[in-house]
Amino acid sequence: MAFRDIIGQERAINALKKVAGREDLPHAFLFSGLPGVGKKTVAVNFAKVVNCSGRVEGDCCEECSACIRANGGNFPDLLVIEATDKFIGIDVIRSLDEELSFPPLEGRKRVIIIDEAHKMTDEAANALLKTLEEPPPDNVIILVVPEPGMLLPTVVSRTCHLRFQPLTDSAVADILVSRHFLDPETSEAVARISSGSIERALNYLESQFVERKQTIRDRILEAMSCDINRMFEITREWAAEGDFLLDDIDMLKMWWRDLIVKNLGDGTDELILDPEFTGTLEKVLKKSSYGSLIESYQLINSTYYDLTRRSNKQMAMERLLLGLRESANEENSRHTLQRRRKSI
Ligand SMILES: [Zn+2]
Repeated sequence: MAFRDIIGQERAINALKKVAGREDLPHAFLFSGLPGVGKKTVAVNFAKVVNCSGRVEGDCCEECSACIRANGGNFPDLLVIEATDKFIGIDVIRSLDEELSFPPLEGRKRVIIIDEAHKMTDEAANALLKTLEEPPPDNVIILVVPEPGMLLPTVVSRTCHLRFQPLTDSAVADILVSRHFLDPETSEAVARISSGSIERALNYLESQFVERKQTIRDRILEAMSCDINRMFEITREWAAEGDFLLDDIDMLKMWWRDLIVKNLGDGTDELILDPEFTGTLEKVLKKSSYGSLIESYQLINSTYYDLTRRSNKQMAMERLLLGLRESANEENSRHTLQRRRKSI
């Protein structure tokens, strides 16, 4: 794959094309953006472009030795570091430092991609900071993270930051059709709820998202009105399904986003991403105020952030459900009070 084959992320790719051939190439980049929007794919292709001997207009040739070996996963000057055991420890950064002290083996520049760099331990991040302060020549480090705020500000300030936008719905659908051989109808339906992330679209497909959506909706509806002991039981069950949590929270974000759009008034129906599910939720939440919906949305958002920061899953989910419940109950009791006042 070359830059020209990547669907979406034109802005980031154009910026990289301009610098790829330069001698004064920045020694560190930060690629930030939602998981599944193509950051790592672009990073790997950038490594190829930087080292390609037949580079044309900032893109790689796919025919030279560097391109062929990188495509086969055996180009020695392309290193990809990934989190093992859910974090990246100091030993990994130390052995990277050792490797960086030697010049690249074959390429013009050695490119090191640290995927999910926010999973570096504090010790590892501090060790990397030292490398970024005094970078050995002919190395380019690319840090890949969902949000720059997940890294030490001192690390961020030593990188050239490129923000990756969510893909458009049509780009997600195109990728699902052309790369994953799905039929156009399913691709478009999944793309609409993927928030611009291929990873999320594929997760939905793999986790049989229709069933999962129903489970999550039933849980949320029950948690809004059940007794408090049952609510804690729900959070326990939910937190135990760790692998799905981030996707579930994304689903909540989409529903509450829909509720906010609906709250804005008539003429917004076509902007609703998931009409059926939002309609059911709306009945339970009655006429929530714009302010309380925004508050709930922010709470859902901060829960997502907490969960990516390896915080205690159960406590994060408890805080979320207690907050959503409080917000719904406040609104409902306000409406009951208004109804009673009217009937007096
Ligand atoms: Zn090439």
